[in-house]
Amino acid sequence: MTAQLLDGRSVSAAKLEELTAEVSRFVRVRGRRPVLATVLVGDDPASHTYVRMKVNRCHQVGIESRRLDLDAGIGTEELCRVISELSADPEVDGILLQHPVPDHIDERAAFEAIDPGKDVDGVTRTSFAAMAFTEDGFASATPGGILALLDAYGVPLSGRHAVVIGRSAILGKPMGMLLLGRDATVTYCHSRTANLREHVQRADVVVAAVGRPGIIKGEWVKPGAVVVDAGYADNQGDVEFDTAAKRASFITPVPGGVGPMTIATLLTQTVRAAERQAAAFTAAQ
Ligand code: NAP
Repeated sequence: MTAQLLDGRSVSAAKLEELTAEVSRFVRVRGRRPVLATVLVGDDPASHTYVRMKVNRCHQVGIESRRLDLDAGIGTEELCRVISELSADPEVDGILLQHPVPDHIDERAAFEAIDPGKDVDGVTRTSFAAMAFTEDGFASATPGGILALLDAYGVPLSGRHAVVIGRSAILGKPMGMLLLGRDATVTYCHSRTANLREHVQRADVVVAAVGRPGIIKGEWVKPGAVVVDAGYADNQGDVEFDTAAKRASFITPVPGGVGPMTIATLLTQTVRAAERQAAAFTAAQ
């Protein structure tokens, strides 16, 4: 292997340490802890694991978590009502609705029930627009975490050709927008893209966000390219790691690359939301 690892575990650990100090200051000044509400619908084992990891990390840095585990049979209307109540609750700073929700639920409607000021996972239209217009707002947590990881290693983005494979609303699309906001030249690939191989071969930066193990062949990677693998299915990423690592300059491991950065971004944005909410409360007194 010649590539340097983009080590999300160590970068996120450093970020969480800084955040722990910030939370202590917040508690001292405000007399309360930041609060993240997590909403999980149904019994998908992977989603349960993700929520448990997020709740554990909250406790590690001193954020209070309020966990709502809802029955898989809940309807869109009832779920939106529950989320709207959290949006209106002054004791809640941030809201995470774990994606994906069961198929019968209108996920977009449920996301839009989150108050944009509490949208610490960056899933609402308001957050999406802020990313698109490079305005101040909450970044989509996984793309925001990927950008933070690239920044931690000083990976230049301006003028470079970034190829994002995947265009989901929570990952691929916002990833491309954030890279565009950093002056990369962005190509999106998806299930209808012809000649995926040729696009990847031209990329200075590859972000794989599909969820199909090994769909990106290591031999497609341009020598010296930066490879970020957000995919995770059957305990594997989207990129053939061993061959890609021989050609890339930087590469994320799976696991231990993107996942920990997603959680660090979620928690960082929760503390930002709490600070804003506390400042607004003080100003209103
Ligand atoms: P998704 O909603 O299923 O989107 C997958 C995307 O891949 C779609 O845009 C799809 O294209 C595209 N795609 C499917 N087959 C393709 C092909 N043959 N060639 C090129 N593109 C193809 O999934 P997601 O929620 O974005 O998640 C993607 C992956 O990231 C999953 O493995 C998920 O587990 C992982 N993930 C990781 C984290 C983390 O923190 N590490 C967070 C979120 C997600 P179409 O739009 O044309 O269907």
